[in-house]
Amino acid sequence: MERIILVRYGEIILKGLNRPIFEDVLVRNIKRALDGCGSFDIRKSQATIYIEPEQEYVDEIITRLKKVFGVVFIVVAYKIEKSMEAVRNGIVPCLGDQLRTARTFKVEAKRSDKKFHLKSPQICKETGGYVLDAFPHLKVDVHNPDVTVYVEIRDQNAFLHTGRIKAAGGLPTGTGGRGMLLLSGGIDSPVAGYLIGRRGVELEAVHFFSYPYTSERAKDKVLKLASITGQYMGGMKVHIVPFTDIQLAIRDKCPEEHLTLVMRRFMMQISERIARKRNCGALVTGESLGQVASQTLAALAVTNEATTLPVFRPLIGMDKDDIVAIARQIDTFETSILPYEDCCTVFTPKHPTTKPILEKIQKSQALLDVEPLIQAAVDGVETITL
Ligand code: ATP
Ligand code: MG
Repeated sequence: MERIILVRYGEIILKGLNRPIFEDVLVRNIKRALDGCGSFDIRKSQATIYIEPEQEYVDEIITRLKKVFGVVFIVVAYKIEKSMEAVRNGIVPCLGDQLRTARTFKVEAKRSDKKFHLKSPQICKETGGYVLDAFPHLKVDVHNPDVTVYVEIRDQNAFLHTGRIKAAGGLPTGTGGRGMLLLSGGIDSPVAGYLIGRRGVELEAVHFFSYPYTSERAKDKVLKLASITGQYMGGMKVHIVPFTDIQLAIRDKCPEEHLTLVMRRFMMQISERIARKRNCGALVTGESLGQVASQTLAALAVTNEATTLPVFRPLIGMDKDDIVAIARQIDTFETSILPYEDCCTVFTPKHPTTKPILEKIQKSQALLDVEPLIQAAVDGVETITL
């Protein structure tokens, strides 16, 4: 029996007249994600994308589809003829493996072809009878069954399956504009990138690198994080910014308690330059209110003032535990906790200000040749495409 894959999307359905645009982008992204999975037919109909693959690629396709934003659920269904006869004949070959080891089951029917001669309750009843004929050990349990048998009567065919697999959800990459993620080697920023990417934003990343204070291994770690996060968005470009000269200049000339915030303002300013060049309309950071001295409300205001681009901070109201849970789910956690130093940790003051006054920080920053430092950093960017 031939398995086909049905892709269900959620919110896109609410997009009214724009819906076809979102659907087309999703189909395009799926095609890209399935590159190398043999040849397949793909079409959309009735708020579902149908993929008819070569059978040996089904499992690989499912793995990849789970990481495509905009795909909410995946159903692997057996395609059969649109008749109760075909449903009866399909039970054992299609669903036998699951039903044999189950103790209880129920049947759900969906009939989007309203011309089909039976209504849903009758389809359920008859199918339930076929299941019990084939597997007399089973009992019906409509509340908490081990297996649910779904019978879907659609326009061309009927389908049999045992339920849906949850995928990444969100909106298709590219439907939400472009953003620049400030990606460190920590736990937070990959999660921030994932959450904003999930809203359809196509991301590039900028990483501030202070060689030799931070090592090549720290850079590799960041690239690894970018490639894991980028899997959901069809890849990610990373702009590596040489940051050592700026950090040394700050250390030499600014009051110690201002080091972190002056540094963070430089990060914003340089990220904005690169973002504008790369046509990105927002910055994205992993900041979370109150997590560290540079993330108090007053400190964030000082950092924010350094850029005129909108800054998205999707973790702002989240506890560390919640962030870690997402990091584990998206597979960045184990990489994030590798013990390589970050540029922020190398030059950390003993007593950073938690209630900074903007004018004072601006004055400290003005002790430096700000513009040439920014320009040199931007000129020294190395871009890596993952
Ligand atoms: P993370 O876990 O993401 O490193 P954090 O809790 O360590 O965050 P900070 O080090 O203060 O917090 O950084 C706050 C945010 O600033 C990060 O989430 C990231 O967006 C950005 N950032 C920090 N360091 C770098 C860096 N070296 N390169 C690029 N962005 C950075
Ligand atoms: Mg950090």
